[in-house]
Amino acid sequence: MKIREVPVEGYETVAVAEDPESSLHAIIAIHDTTLGPALGGLRLWKYETEEDALTDVLRLARGMTYKSACANTGLGGGKAVIIGDSETDLTESRFRAMGRFVETLGGRYITAEDVGIGIRELEWLRKETRYVTGLSRRVGSSGNPSPFTARGVIRGLFACAEERFGTSHLDRLRYTVQGLGQVGGDVVRCLSMLGATVTVTDINEERCEEFAALPGVEVVPAEEIYSVDCDVFMPCALGGVLNDETIPILKAQVVAGCANNQLLRSDHADSLHARGILYAPDFIINAGGIINVSVEVREEGYDERTAVRKIENIYDGLREVFETARREDLTPAKAADRVAEFRLEQARNRNGSPVKDTTPNS
Ligand code: NAD
Repeated sequence: MKIREVPVEGYETVAVAEDPESSLHAIIAIHDTTLGPALGGLRLWKYETEEDALTDVLRLARGMTYKSACANTGLGGGKAVIIGDSETDLTESRFRAMGRFVETLGGRYITAEDVGIGIRELEWLRKETRYVTGLSRRVGSSGNPSPFTARGVIRGLFACAEERFGTSHLDRLRYTVQGLGQVGGDVVRCLSMLGATVTVTDINEERCEEFAALPGVEVVPAEEIYSVDCDVFMPCALGGVLNDETIPILKAQVVAGCANNQLLRSDHADSLHARGILYAPDFIINAGGIINVSVEVREEGYDERTAVRKIENIYDGLREVFETARREDLTPAKAADRVAEFRLEQARNRNGSPVKDTTPNS
């Protein structure tokens, strides 16, 4: 396997691996390990070029640093991508080669599941490296993170409801949920159980039928979800859904969902703010999964009660962000960045290392 380092300003290590034997072509980006080893998922995607893959992995790795810093996971930020096709390229030899690539970093990068990867692939990786998290409970790992992400989202909703509506009665609000997958589905079940009114959508008709049967739940076609009259809009499917087309038609006063990278561009946080819509930064409210995994990385090993206790703090994390935003007249998205940067700077000062430039390079 040939491994070459690519110097990228603001990143600790960016390495590209090419292994002709297994056809592995992958990149690992370690953005920042000030707060601990860099943990972030491994994504398999059909990137057109290595340049596209590099852009993606850099953006994602930096996002993980900020997410973990705000969630106090004791971890740094990193990410890995394999350039490939999930239809044809899920071979054991390729993933074992990826495991060897991860191993070369000696634990500075710890991997986990992301788009295009499942438990089977992680188990292949595990044959070559111990720096893999999110395997099944059967082997003492933390298992599927989604129920923990959903739990964190519900905790976050309390902070949003108090901030915008002055209530912690989640049942009194009306919600729209886009995406009834692993996380969105759990969130809807919970809201329905609380007695709330929830309008939902999914491009998968079976999912829609399943959820239409729940009390208080109504299904609408996918394209109508943005304009439904509601209090809270919850993006739980794709990224980029908060954009020039959707923001002007939102009726909600709060946007709070689990999807990653909900803002198409960072200035869409300003558009939401200008419309008086409170935005719960995605990387704060959807941190339940990474918090759960971070508990696995501790020396004592995984413990669900510890994970749940830490996930409850998403409420406090959001309160801190909203307070910072109010005090410093910022959008919550900028305030969240501020909170993360402050924690990193404090840790660097404690460690005696110089403050690093974290300007994105993608
Ligand atoms: P999932 O694949 O289980 O569910 C996504 C759902 O969205 C699917 O049911 C899909 O049919 C639906 N969908 C796709 N496009 C849609 C559209 N245009 N309109 C309506 N529905 C659409 O995924 P998940 O694990 O529930 O994750 C959802 C989002 O949350 C993703 O953005 C993911 O990156 C993010 N996230 C997930 C976790 C986790 O623990 N699973 C953690 C953090 C962030």
